[in-house]
Amino acid sequence: MNHGNLLTHLAEAVGPGQVLTGADEMAPFGTDWRGRYRGTPLCVVRPATTAEVARVVQLCAAFGTPVVPQGGNTGLCGGATPRGGEVLLSLARLNHVRSVDAANYSLVAEAGCTLMRVQQAATDAGRLFPLSLAAEGTATIGGNLATNAGGLQVLRYGNARELALGLEVVLPDGQVWHGLRALRKDNTGYDLKQVFIGAEGTLGIITAASLRLFAQPRHVLTAWLGADSIADVVALLGCLRDGVGELVTAFELIGDAALSVVAQQFPDLQLPLRGKPAWHVLLECSGGMPMQDVVSGVVASAIESGLVTDAVLATSLAQAEALWQLREHIPEAQKRRGFSIKHDIAVPISRLAEFVARADAALLRQFPQVEVVCFGHVGDGNLHYNLAFADPACATDADLVARATNIVHDIAGELGGTISAEHGIGQLKREMLTRYKSPLELSLMRALKQSIDPQGLMNPGKLL
Ligand code: FAD
Ligand code: ZN
Repeated sequence: MNHGNLLTHLAEAVGPGQVLTGADEMAPFGTDWRGRYRGTPLCVVRPATTAEVARVVQLCAAFGTPVVPQGGNTGLCGGATPRGGEVLLSLARLNHVRSVDAANYSLVAEAGCTLMRVQQAATDAGRLFPLSLAAEGTATIGGNLATNAGGLQVLRYGNARELALGLEVVLPDGQVWHGLRALRKDNTGYDLKQVFIGAEGTLGIITAASLRLFAQPRHVLTAWLGADSIADVVALLGCLRDGVGELVTAFELIGDAALSVVAQQFPDLQLPLRGKPAWHVLLECSGGMPMQDVVSGVVASAIESGLVTDAVLATSLAQAEALWQLREHIPEAQKRRGFSIKHDIAVPISRLAEFVARADAALLRQFPQVEVVCFGHVGDGNLHYNLAFADPACATDADLVARATNIVHDIAGELGGTISAEHGIGQLKREMLTRYKSPLELSLMRALKQSIDPQGLMNPGKLL
Protein backbone atom coordinates (compact mmCIF):
# COMPACT_ATOMS: atom_id res chain seq x y z
CA MET A 1 0.00 0.00 0.00
CA ASN A 2 1.43 3.35 -1.02
CA HIS A 3 0.18 6.08 1.28
CA GLY A 4 1.81 8.82 -0.79
CA ASN A 5 -0.38 7.70 -3.64
CA LEU A 6 -3.48 7.68 -1.45
CA LEU A 7 -2.74 11.23 -0.30
CA THR A 8 -2.43 12.37 -3.92
CA HIS A 9 -5.76 10.79 -4.83
CA LEU A 10 -7.44 12.27 -1.75
CA ALA A 11 -6.14 15.73 -2.66
CA GLU A 12 -7.61 15.26 -6.14
CA ALA A 13 -10.93 14.22 -4.61
CA VAL A 14 -11.42 17.08 -2.15
CA GLY A 15 -8.87 19.71 -3.17
CA PRO A 16 -5.31 19.95 -1.81
CA GLY A 17 -6.24 22.51 0.88
CA GLN A 18 -8.68 20.02 2.43
CA VAL A 19 -6.14 17.27 3.14
CA LEU A 20 -4.18 18.13 6.29
CA THR A 21 -0.95 16.31 7.08
CA GLY A 22 0.98 18.75 9.30
CA ALA A 23 1.33 17.70 12.94
CA ASP A 24 0.05 21.03 14.28
CA GLU A 25 -2.99 21.24 12.02
CA MET A 26 -3.93 17.61 12.72
CA ALA A 27 -3.43 17.85 16.51
CA PRO A 28 -6.95 19.09 17.44
CA PHE A 29 -8.48 16.16 15.53
CA GLY A 30 -6.22 13.66 17.27
CA THR A 31 -7.31 14.28 20.87
CA ASP A 32 -10.72 13.79 22.46
CA TRP A 33 -12.67 16.37 24.47
CA ARG A 34 -11.52 15.02 27.81
CA GLY A 35 -7.90 14.68 26.69
CA ARG A 36 -7.86 10.97 27.49
CA TYR A 37 -7.20 9.58 24.03
CA ARG A 38 -4.62 10.59 21.48
CA GLY A 39 -3.65 9.33 18.06
CA THR A 40 -2.04 10.64 14.92
CA PRO A 41 -3.98 9.96 11.74
CA LEU A 42 -2.34 9.56 8.37
CA CYS A 43 -4.19 12.73 7.37
CA VAL A 44 -7.34 14.71 8.05
CA VAL A 45 -9.67 14.95 5.05
CA ARG A 46 -12.42 17.55 4.89
CA PRO A 47 -14.88 16.79 2.10
CA ALA A 48 -17.72 19.25 1.44
CA THR A 49 -20.32 17.05 -0.26
CA THR A 50 -21.72 13.53 -0.07
CA ALA A 51 -20.09 12.77 -3.43
CA GLU A 52 -16.71 13.81 -2.02
CA VAL A 53 -17.25 11.66 1.08
CA ALA A 54 -18.10 8.72 -1.17
CA ARG A 55 -14.95 9.26 -3.23
CA VAL A 56 -12.78 9.46 -0.09
CA VAL A 57 -14.27 6.26 1.32
CA GLN A 58 -13.90 4.51 -2.04
CA LEU A 59 -10.20 5.45 -2.13
CA CYS A 60 -9.67 4.25 1.44
CA ALA A 61 -11.35 0.93 0.54
CA ALA A 62 -9.11 0.57 -2.51
CA PHE A 63 -5.98 1.25 -0.43
CA GLY A 64 -7.19 -0.78 2.55
CA THR A 65 -6.80 2.23 4.82
CA PRO A 66 -9.15 2.57 7.83
CA VAL A 67 -11.42 5.59 8.19
CA VAL A 68 -12.37 7.44 11.38
CA PRO A 69 -15.40 9.71 10.99
CA GLN A 70 -15.41 12.79 13.17
CA GLY A 71 -18.09 15.43 13.74
CA GLY A 72 -17.70 17.97 16.53
CA ASN A 73 -15.26 15.76 18.46
CA THR A 74 -17.21 16.16 21.70
CA GLY A 75 -17.76 12.43 22.23
CA LEU A 76 -16.85 11.11 25.67
CA CYS A 77 -15.52 7.62 24.94
CA GLY A 78 -12.72 8.10 22.40
CA GLY A 79 -14.91 7.00 19.48
CA ALA A 80 -13.80 9.80 17.16
CA THR A 81 -10.13 9.69 18.14
CA PRO A 82 -7.76 7.96 15.69
CA ARG A 83 -5.57 5.19 17.05
CA GLY A 84 -2.87 5.94 14.48
CA GLY A 85 -2.48 5.85 10.71
CA GLU A 86 -6.16 6.12 9.68
CA VAL A 87 -7.76 8.68 7.39
CA LEU A 88 -9.64 10.98 9.70
CA LEU A 89 -12.75 12.07 7.81
CA SER A 90 -14.11 15.31 9.23
CA LEU A 91 -17.76 16.01 8.38
CA ALA A 92 -17.48 19.65 9.47
CA ARG A 93 -17.87 21.09 5.97
CA LEU A 94 -21.10 19.19 5.25
CA ASN A 95 -22.95 21.85 7.17
CA HIS A 96 -26.03 22.81 5.18
CA VAL A 97 -29.65 22.45 6.12
CA ARG A 98 -30.87 21.10 2.79
CA SER A 99 -34.60 21.60 3.23
CA VAL A 100 -37.29 22.32 5.79
CA ASP A 101 -40.83 20.98 5.39
CA ALA A 102 -42.80 22.77 8.09
CA ALA A 103 -46.10 21.15 7.09
CA ASN A 104 -44.51 17.69 7.40
CA TYR A 105 -42.76 18.69 10.63
CA SER A 106 -39.41 17.60 9.22
CA LEU A 107 -36.12 18.92 7.91
CA VAL A 108 -33.08 17.49 6.16
CA ALA A 109 -29.70 18.49 7.57
CA GLU A 110 -26.20 17.47 6.54
CA ALA A 111 -24.19 15.53 9.09
CA GLY A 112 -21.76 18.33 9.94
CA CYS A 113 -24.47 20.82 11.00
CA THR A 114 -24.05 21.55 14.67
CA LEU A 115 -26.98 20.53 16.80
CA MET A 116 -27.54 24.21 17.54
CA ARG A 117 -27.75 24.98 13.82
CA VAL A 118 -30.42 22.30 13.41
CA GLN A 119 -32.36 23.64 16.40
CA GLN A 120 -32.17 27.15 14.90
CA ALA A 121 -33.40 25.99 11.47
CA ALA A 122 -36.39 24.40 13.18
CA THR A 123 -37.07 27.55 15.21
CA ASP A 124 -36.85 29.70 12.08
CA ALA A 125 -39.61 27.56 10.57
CA GLY A 126 -41.79 27.90 13.69
CA ARG A 127 -40.99 24.37 14.79
CA LEU A 128 -38.99 22.62 17.51
CA PHE A 129 -36.12 20.17 17.18
CA PRO A 130 -36.00 18.91 20.74
CA LEU A 131 -32.62 17.19 21.01
CA SER A 132 -30.64 19.26 23.46
CA LEU A 133 -27.36 18.71 25.30
CA ALA A 134 -24.63 20.82 26.82
CA ALA A 135 -22.25 20.34 23.86
CA GLU A 136 -24.85 21.43 21.27
CA GLY A 137 -22.83 24.41 19.98
CA THR A 138 -20.07 22.06 18.80
CA ALA A 139 -21.54 18.55 18.54
CA THR A 140 -22.90 17.71 15.09
CA ILE A 141 -26.14 16.03 14.14
CA GLY A 142 -24.11 13.26 12.46
CA GLY A 143 -22.26 12.64 15.72
CA ASN A 144 -25.51 12.82 17.69
CA LEU A 145 -27.01 10.11 15.48
CA ALA A 146 -23.84 8.01 15.41
CA THR A 147 -23.87 7.97 19.23
CA ASN A 148 -27.67 7.97 19.55
CA ALA A 149 -27.30 10.97 21.82
CA GLY A 150 -29.87 11.65 24.50
CA GLY A 151 -29.80 14.69 26.68
CA LEU A 152 -32.24 16.89 28.44
CA GLN A 153 -35.64 16.19 26.85
CA VAL A 154 -35.55 12.46 26.14
CA LEU A 155 -38.34 11.88 28.64
CA ARG A 156 -40.77 13.71 26.36
CA TYR A 157 -39.33 13.43 22.83
CA GLY A 158 -37.02 10.41 22.82
CA ASN A 159 -33.33 10.27 21.93
CA ALA A 160 -31.64 10.74 18.55
CA ARG A 161 -32.90 7.35 17.39
CA GLU A 162 -36.51 8.43 17.82
CA LEU A 163 -35.92 11.76 16.10
CA ALA A 164 -34.54 10.38 12.82
CA LEU A 165 -36.95 9.72 9.97
CA GLY A 166 -34.33 8.82 7.37
CA LEU A 167 -30.61 8.82 6.64
CA GLU A 168 -28.17 9.23 3.80
CA VAL A 169 -25.15 7.00 4.41
CA VAL A 170 -21.88 6.39 2.58
CA LEU A 171 -21.23 2.66 2.92
CA PRO A 172 -17.75 1.19 3.50
CA ASP A 173 -17.28 0.50 -0.23
CA GLY A 174 -18.22 4.07 -1.19
CA GLN A 175 -21.78 3.39 -2.34
CA VAL A 176 -24.35 5.91 -1.17
CA TRP A 177 -27.57 4.73 0.47
CA HIS A 178 -30.20 7.39 -0.23
CA GLY A 179 -32.54 6.75 2.66
CA LEU A 180 -33.70 10.31 3.33
CA ARG A 181 -37.39 9.45 3.59
CA ALA A 182 -39.46 11.77 5.74
CA LEU A 183 -42.16 9.29 6.75
CA ARG A 184 -43.51 8.46 10.17
CA LYS A 185 -44.92 5.18 8.97
CA ASP A 186 -43.08 2.85 6.63
CA ASN A 187 -43.58 -0.87 7.09
CA THR A 188 -41.43 -2.20 4.30
CA GLY A 189 -39.10 -4.50 6.14
CA TYR A 190 -35.97 -3.92 8.20
CA ASP A 191 -35.58 -0.37 9.47
CA LEU A 192 -32.07 0.07 8.08
CA LYS A 193 -31.48 3.57 9.42
CA GLN A 194 -31.57 2.19 12.95
CA VAL A 195 -28.57 -0.01 12.19
CA PHE A 196 -26.41 3.06 11.51
CA ILE A 197 -27.77 5.06 14.43
CA GLY A 198 -25.69 4.35 17.51
CA ALA A 199 -23.12 2.44 15.42
CA GLU A 200 -20.41 5.02 16.27
CA GLY A 201 -19.16 5.17 12.69
CA THR A 202 -18.36 1.45 12.54
CA LEU A 203 -20.77 0.66 9.68
CA GLY A 204 -20.63 3.72 7.43
CA ILE A 205 -20.59 7.50 7.29
CA ILE A 206 -23.85 9.34 7.91
CA THR A 207 -23.83 12.30 5.50
CA ALA A 208 -27.35 13.67 6.03
CA ALA A 209 -30.47 13.00 8.05
CA SER A 210 -34.16 13.62 7.75
CA LEU A 211 -35.30 14.72 11.20
CA ARG A 212 -38.60 14.87 13.02
CA LEU A 213 -39.82 18.29 14.20
CA PHE A 214 -42.44 19.22 16.77
CA ALA A 215 -44.71 22.13 17.59
CA GLN A 216 -42.97 24.90 19.46
CA PRO A 217 -44.31 24.99 23.00
CA ARG A 218 -46.07 28.31 23.64
CA HIS A 219 -45.70 28.01 27.40
CA VAL A 220 -42.73 26.78 29.38
CA LEU A 221 -42.49 26.44 33.12
CA THR A 222 -39.15 25.86 34.83
CA ALA A 223 -38.71 25.01 38.49
CA TRP A 224 -35.98 23.94 40.90
CA LEU A 225 -36.98 21.58 43.70
CA GLY A 226 -35.21 20.02 46.66
CA ALA A 227 -35.74 16.46 47.95
CA ASP A 228 -34.32 14.25 50.68
CA SER A 229 -33.99 11.00 48.73
CA ILE A 230 -33.99 9.54 45.25
CA ALA A 231 -37.05 7.52 46.18
CA ASP A 232 -38.85 10.82 46.84
CA VAL A 233 -37.61 12.22 43.50
CA VAL A 234 -38.94 9.17 41.62
CA ALA A 235 -42.26 9.41 43.48
CA LEU A 236 -42.44 13.12 42.58
CA LEU A 237 -41.96 12.29 38.91
CA GLY A 238 -44.87 9.86 39.18
CA CYS A 239 -47.08 12.57 40.74
CA LEU A 240 -46.16 14.99 37.96
CA ARG A 241 -46.88 12.46 35.26
CA ASP A 242 -50.21 11.65 36.84
CA GLY A 243 -50.97 15.35 37.18
CA VAL A 244 -49.71 16.88 33.96
CA GLY A 245 -48.90 13.87 31.76
CA GLU A 246 -46.92 14.64 28.64
CA LEU A 247 -46.20 18.22 29.71
CA VAL A 248 -43.14 17.06 31.68
CA THR A 249 -40.33 17.83 29.25
CA ALA A 250 -37.28 17.55 31.47
CA PHE A 251 -36.76 16.14 34.93
CA GLU A 252 -33.09 16.42 35.80
CA LEU A 253 -31.58 15.11 38.99
CA ILE A 254 -28.62 16.90 40.54
CA GLY A 255 -26.94 15.52 43.63
CA ASP A 256 -25.85 18.16 46.11
CA ALA A 257 -22.21 17.13 45.57
CA ALA A 258 -22.55 17.88 41.83
CA LEU A 259 -24.08 21.27 42.55
CA SER A 260 -21.27 22.03 45.01
CA VAL A 261 -18.68 21.40 42.29
CA VAL A 262 -20.48 23.89 40.03
CA ALA A 263 -20.67 26.45 42.86
CA GLN A 264 -16.96 25.98 43.56
CA GLN A 265 -15.83 26.30 39.92
CA PHE A 266 -18.33 28.97 38.84
CA PRO A 267 -18.87 31.14 41.93
CA ASP A 268 -20.80 33.74 39.89
CA LEU A 269 -23.69 31.34 39.35
CA GLN A 270 -26.40 31.74 41.98
CA LEU A 271 -27.79 28.74 43.83
CA PRO A 272 -31.60 28.69 43.83
CA LEU A 273 -32.42 27.18 47.23
CA ARG A 274 -31.46 28.49 50.63
CA GLY A 275 -31.19 25.05 52.20
CA LYS A 276 -28.94 22.17 51.15
CA PRO A 277 -31.15 19.22 50.28
CA ALA A 278 -29.40 15.98 49.36
CA TRP A 279 -30.98 16.04 45.89
CA HIS A 280 -32.12 18.75 43.54
CA VAL A 281 -34.53 18.47 40.62
CA LEU A 282 -34.63 20.78 37.63
CA LEU A 283 -38.12 20.46 36.22
CA GLU A 284 -39.41 21.76 32.94
CA CYS A 285 -42.97 21.47 31.69
CA SER A 286 -44.03 22.81 28.33
CA GLY A 287 -47.05 22.83 26.08
CA GLY A 288 -49.60 24.81 24.15
CA MET A 289 -51.62 26.00 27.17
CA PRO A 290 -50.64 27.88 30.33
CA MET A 291 -49.83 25.29 33.00
CA GLN A 292 -48.65 27.34 35.95
CA ASP A 293 -51.68 26.51 38.10
CA VAL A 294 -51.74 22.78 37.55
CA VAL A 295 -47.95 22.34 38.00
CA SER A 296 -47.91 24.58 41.08
CA GLY A 297 -50.75 22.47 42.46
CA VAL A 298 -48.78 19.25 42.05
CA VAL A 299 -45.67 20.82 43.58
CA ALA A 300 -47.67 22.23 46.51
CA SER A 301 -49.12 18.83 47.36
CA ALA A 302 -45.65 17.28 47.00
CA ILE A 303 -44.36 19.80 49.56
CA GLU A 304 -47.28 18.98 51.84
CA SER A 305 -46.64 15.25 51.65
CA GLY A 306 -42.90 15.75 52.24
CA LEU A 307 -41.68 14.59 48.80
CA VAL A 308 -40.31 18.07 48.14
CA THR A 309 -38.44 20.07 50.76
CA ASP A 310 -38.23 23.40 48.98
CA ALA A 311 -39.14 24.82 45.56
CA VAL A 312 -38.48 27.81 43.31
CA LEU A 313 -40.58 28.44 40.21
CA ALA A 314 -38.84 30.61 37.62
CA THR A 315 -40.80 33.79 37.00
CA SER A 316 -38.87 35.01 33.98
CA LEU A 317 -37.00 33.58 31.04
CA ALA A 318 -33.76 34.92 32.55
CA GLN A 319 -34.43 33.08 35.78
CA ALA A 320 -35.24 29.87 33.90
CA GLU A 321 -32.00 30.20 31.95
CA ALA A 322 -30.06 30.76 35.16
CA LEU A 323 -31.43 27.49 36.53
CA TRP A 324 -30.45 25.64 33.34
CA GLN A 325 -26.97 27.20 33.51
CA LEU A 326 -26.37 25.40 36.80
CA ARG A 327 -27.29 22.07 35.22
CA GLU A 328 -25.33 22.63 32.04
CA HIS A 329 -22.16 23.70 33.84
CA ILE A 330 -21.78 20.37 35.65
CA PRO A 331 -19.61 18.60 33.01
CA GLU A 332 -17.30 21.60 32.58
CA ALA A 333 -17.06 22.13 36.36
CA GLN A 334 -16.09 18.50 36.83
CA LYS A 335 -13.54 18.73 34.06
CA ARG A 336 -11.97 21.83 35.65
CA ARG A 337 -11.82 20.25 39.07
CA GLY A 338 -9.85 17.28 37.83
CA PHE A 339 -9.96 13.55 37.36
CA SER A 340 -13.16 11.62 37.75
CA ILE A 341 -14.41 8.25 36.59
CA LYS A 342 -17.50 8.90 34.51
CA HIS A 343 -20.42 6.54 34.22
CA ASP A 344 -23.59 6.91 32.20
CA ILE A 345 -25.48 3.87 33.39
CA ALA A 346 -29.23 3.35 33.21
CA VAL A 347 -31.56 1.13 35.21
CA PRO A 348 -35.36 0.96 35.25
CA ILE A 349 -36.64 4.16 36.90
CA SER A 350 -38.22 2.07 39.64
CA ARG A 351 -34.75 0.80 40.64
CA LEU A 352 -32.80 4.09 40.65
CA ALA A 353 -32.91 4.48 44.42
CA GLU A 354 -31.76 0.91 44.94
CA PHE A 355 -28.93 1.40 42.44
CA VAL A 356 -27.58 4.49 44.22
CA ALA A 357 -27.91 2.98 47.68
CA ARG A 358 -26.11 -0.22 46.69
CA ALA A 359 -23.42 1.45 44.59
CA ASP A 360 -22.68 4.12 47.23
CA ALA A 361 -22.32 1.47 49.93
CA ALA A 362 -20.20 -0.91 47.85
CA LEU A 363 -17.84 1.86 46.72
CA LEU A 364 -17.40 3.37 50.17
CA ARG A 365 -16.52 -0.06 51.56
CA GLN A 366 -13.68 -0.45 49.03
CA PHE A 367 -12.66 3.19 48.58
CA PRO A 368 -13.33 5.28 51.69
CA GLN A 369 -11.84 8.32 49.92
CA VAL A 370 -14.28 8.30 46.99
CA GLU A 371 -16.68 11.17 46.39
CA VAL A 372 -19.78 10.32 44.33
CA VAL A 373 -20.82 13.18 42.06
CA CYS A 374 -24.18 12.03 40.74
CA PHE A 375 -26.60 13.75 38.39
CA GLY A 376 -28.73 12.60 35.52
CA HIS A 377 -31.98 12.18 33.75
CA VAL A 378 -34.42 10.54 36.15
CA GLY A 379 -37.17 10.19 33.56
CA ASP A 380 -34.83 8.00 31.48
CA GLY A 381 -33.45 6.02 34.41
CA ASN A 382 -30.06 7.36 33.34
CA LEU A 383 -27.49 8.56 35.88
CA HIS A 384 -24.12 10.17 35.45
CA TYR A 385 -22.76 8.38 38.46
CA ASN A 386 -19.30 9.91 38.53
CA LEU A 387 -16.57 9.14 41.01
CA ALA A 388 -14.07 11.77 42.10
CA PHE A 389 -10.87 11.11 44.03
CA ALA A 390 -9.02 13.96 45.72
CA ASP A 391 -5.66 12.21 45.25
CA PRO A 392 -4.52 12.92 41.64
CA ALA A 393 -2.50 9.67 41.69
CA CYS A 394 -5.80 7.80 41.42
CA ALA A 395 -6.16 9.01 37.83
CA THR A 396 -3.32 6.76 36.71
CA ASP A 397 -4.20 3.84 38.95
CA ALA A 398 -5.68 1.54 36.31
CA ASP A 399 -6.48 -1.14 38.86
CA LEU A 400 -8.47 1.27 41.03
CA VAL A 401 -10.37 2.60 38.00
CA ALA A 402 -11.21 -0.92 36.82
CA ARG A 403 -12.35 -2.11 40.24
CA ALA A 404 -14.53 0.95 40.86
CA THR A 405 -15.99 0.73 37.37
CA ASN A 406 -16.81 -2.95 37.74
CA ILE A 407 -18.64 -2.31 41.00
CA VAL A 408 -20.85 0.31 39.32
CA HIS A 409 -21.46 -1.69 36.16
CA ASP A 410 -22.13 -4.96 37.97
CA ILE A 411 -24.81 -3.39 40.14
CA ALA A 412 -26.39 -1.71 37.10
CA GLY A 413 -26.33 -5.10 35.33
CA GLU A 414 -27.87 -6.91 38.30
CA LEU A 415 -30.73 -4.40 38.29
CA GLY A 416 -31.49 -4.96 34.61
CA GLY A 417 -29.55 -1.90 33.50
CA THR A 418 -26.92 -0.90 30.95
CA ILE A 419 -23.30 0.29 31.18
CA SER A 420 -23.95 3.09 28.71
CA ALA A 421 -27.18 4.97 28.21
CA GLU A 422 -25.70 8.00 26.48
CA HIS A 423 -22.03 8.24 25.63
CA GLY A 424 -21.61 4.94 23.86
CA ILE A 425 -18.77 2.45 23.82
CA GLY A 426 -15.95 3.91 21.67
CA GLN A 427 -12.54 2.84 22.90
CA LEU A 428 -13.39 3.35 26.55
CA LYS A 429 -15.91 0.55 27.07
CA ARG A 430 -14.99 -1.85 24.30
CA GLU A 431 -13.63 -4.48 26.65
CA MET A 432 -16.41 -3.91 29.14
CA LEU A 433 -19.04 -4.58 26.51
CA THR A 434 -17.97 -8.19 26.26
CA ARG A 435 -18.62 -8.58 29.99
CA TYR A 436 -22.22 -7.36 29.86
CA LYS A 437 -23.62 -8.49 26.50
CA SER A 438 -24.53 -12.10 25.95
CA PRO A 439 -22.36 -14.12 23.53
CA LEU A 440 -25.38 -14.36 21.21
CA GLU A 441 -25.91 -10.59 21.16
CA LEU A 442 -22.20 -10.03 20.51
CA SER A 443 -22.13 -12.55 17.70
CA LEU A 444 -25.17 -10.94 16.03
CA MET A 445 -23.44 -7.56 16.26
CA ARG A 446 -20.25 -9.01 14.74
CA ALA A 447 -22.24 -10.66 11.94
CA LEU A 448 -23.81 -7.31 11.10
CA LYS A 449 -20.42 -5.61 11.09
CA GLN A 450 -18.94 -8.33 8.90
CA SER A 451 -21.76 -8.14 6.35
CA ILE A 452 -21.69 -4.36 5.95
CA ASP A 453 -17.96 -3.73 6.45
CA PRO A 454 -16.19 -6.97 5.47
CA GLN A 455 -12.80 -5.24 5.20
CA GLY A 456 -13.18 -3.88 8.74
CA LEU A 457 -12.16 -0.37 7.67
CA MET A 458 -14.87 1.68 9.39
CA ASN A 459 -13.58 3.05 12.69
CA PRO A 460 -11.71 -0.11 13.72
CA GLY A 461 -10.96 -0.63 17.39
CA LYS A 462 -14.16 1.11 18.44
CA LEU A 463 -17.31 -0.45 19.82
CA LEU A 464 -16.65 -4.08 18.81
P1 FAD B 1 -17.85 13.05 17.59
O1 FAD B 1 -17.31 13.18 18.97
O2 FAD B 1 -17.09 13.71 16.52
O3 FAD B 1 -18.02 11.50 17.24
C1 FAD B 1 -18.69 10.62 18.11
C2 FAD B 1 -18.77 9.23 17.47
O4 FAD B 1 -19.59 9.27 16.30
C3 FAD B 1 -17.44 8.69 16.98
O5 FAD B 1 -17.46 7.30 17.09
C4 FAD B 1 -17.41 9.09 15.52
O6 FAD B 1 -16.59 8.24 14.75
C5 FAD B 1 -18.86 8.95 15.13
N1 FAD B 1 -19.32 9.90 14.11
C6 FAD B 1 -19.29 11.26 14.14
N2 FAD B 1 -19.88 11.77 13.05
C7 FAD B 1 -20.27 10.71 12.30
C8 FAD B 1 -20.94 10.58 11.04
N3 FAD B 1 -21.33 11.66 10.35
N4 FAD B 1 -21.16 9.34 10.55
C9 FAD B 1 -20.78 8.24 11.23
N5 FAD B 1 -20.15 8.30 12.43
C10 FAD B 1 -19.90 9.52 12.95
N6 FAD B 1 -24.27 12.91 25.04
C11 FAD B 1 -25.54 12.62 25.29
O7 FAD B 1 -26.05 11.65 24.77
N7 FAD B 1 -26.27 13.39 26.16
C12 FAD B 1 -25.76 14.48 26.77
O8 FAD B 1 -26.45 15.15 27.51
C13 FAD B 1 -24.41 14.82 26.49
N8 FAD B 1 -23.85 15.90 27.06
C14 FAD B 1 -22.58 16.22 26.75
C15 FAD B 1 -22.03 17.36 27.33
C16 FAD B 1 -20.73 17.75 27.06
C17 FAD B 1 -20.18 18.99 27.68
C18 FAD B 1 -19.96 16.95 26.17
C19 FAD B 1 -18.57 17.34 25.84
C20 FAD B 1 -20.49 15.81 25.59
C21 FAD B 1 -21.80 15.43 25.88
N9 FAD B 1 -22.38 14.28 25.32
C22 FAD B 1 -23.68 13.99 25.61
C23 FAD B 1 -21.62 13.37 24.48
C24 FAD B 1 -22.21 13.24 23.08
O9 FAD B 1 -21.98 11.94 22.60
C25 FAD B 1 -21.65 14.18 22.08
O10 FAD B 1 -21.75 15.48 22.53
C26 FAD B 1 -22.29 14.16 20.67
O11 FAD B 1 -23.41 13.34 20.50
C27 FAD B 1 -21.27 13.70 19.70
O12 FAD B 1 -21.35 14.52 18.57
P2 FAD B 1 -19.99 14.94 17.82
O13 FAD B 1 -20.39 15.58 16.54
O14 FAD B 1 -19.11 15.74 18.70
O15 FAD B 1 -19.37 13.51 17.53
ZN1 ZN C 1 -26.56 13.08 30.20
